[in-house]
Amino acid sequence: MKGKKLKNSHLDSLFDGFLKEEGSIILGFKRDGNAIGHHIFKGSAKDYSLINPFFSANGAIYFRRLFSKGAKLLFILRPCEIRAYVELTKLTQIEREGIVAISVDCPGTESEKEKTDRASLPEDIRDYFKGDNKKRWACINCREKRGVVGDAGIRLDRDYNMWIIPYTEKGERLIETLEGELTDIPIDMAISPDRQTDSFKTDMDALRSDLKRCVLCMNCRDMCPVCYCVDCVFNGDEYLPRGDALLNKVLRTGSTDMPQGKELFHLIRMYHVSQTCVGCGACEEACPQDIPLTKYFKGISERLQGIFSYMSGRGFDEAIPYTTFIEDELKDAED
Ligand code: SF4
Ligand code: SF4
Ligand code: SF4
Repeated sequence: MKGKKLKNSHLDSLFDGFLKEEGSIILGFKRDGNAIGHHIFKGSAKDYSLINPFFSANGAIYFRRLFSKGAKLLFILRPCEIRAYVELTKLTQIEREGIVAISVDCPGTESEKEKTDRASLPEDIRDYFKGDNKKRWACINCREKRGVVGDAGIRLDRDYNMWIIPYTEKGERLIETLEGELTDIPIDMAISPDRQTDSFKTDMDALRSDLKRCVLCMNCRDMCPVCYCVDCVFNGDEYLPRGDALLNKVLRTGSTDMPQGKELFHLIRMYHVSQTCVGCGACEEACPQDIPLTKYFKGISERLQGIFSYMSGRGFDEAIPYTTFIEDELKDAED
């Protein structure tokens, strides 16, 4: 595989060149003193950061339902964010014509909620790789933390040289604008495909017990990048009766724990996102009740995707299994 060795000055000129075009913007991370977070750059990419070691949200959520063909956007995000973007393009929730998506090798992230000391923001990316940080469960068990998805990837070799590698024609066109020749990239990279895999405990008793604390605020749904239905069935009174509808139901059916319907809410959501979940853990980050949602959503979705040899967000051309029919598929399944 070929790529170009990068210096920071190359990225500066790449971003400046991109932002010079009328109407163009970049979604990435901006560092501001000891704070760091998603930022939309227009005009200048000053203080951008390739890495954000603290996770609060999946950036793909910000451009969900983008249908402007003339848009000129550059995404420079973590692999789980670019994977969510790729899924959203397949779900026709983002028009990808004017977008270039670059995934950056991700060393893993700590929860923004857990972070107590802003001063712990590493001065240098190398410190973060070596540092004793408290990575989220989603990151310890991440399925793809390498910058190998999207139109191009920024990767680090073992000597911490940065490489930019094209994966699509769009990526090739962008990288052509950088000085230097394409050369073979080193085989040995700082981030390997290996991952630790905790056993996913997804039985109903554990789920029921964890969901006891759920207050049905639906933050998990609202912050999930691939939970995209505009008309969610849980928005009305049908599944979650309130007021008169609740009174009538209780009088008809008897005593009930409140809020009603939380298991149904999570099971329907799980069913809806199981083929497209990227295991980012944004749902868990959004939960005020600290319910360990990632292990259920990621655990179940990876099992299901495995049955179809599918991986969400791996490629633009890989069809989501429920959108295709293959006659010989799942031959062992019972009728
Ligand atoms: S889930 Fe993977 S890609 Fe996403 S922040 Fe964690 S390690 Fe990075
Ligand atoms: S269900 Fe949770 S882990 Fe899966 S994509 Fe949505 S927010 Fe990420
Ligand atoms: S965010 Fe937490 S409390 Fe709110 S609905 Fe989701 S699981 Fe329940």
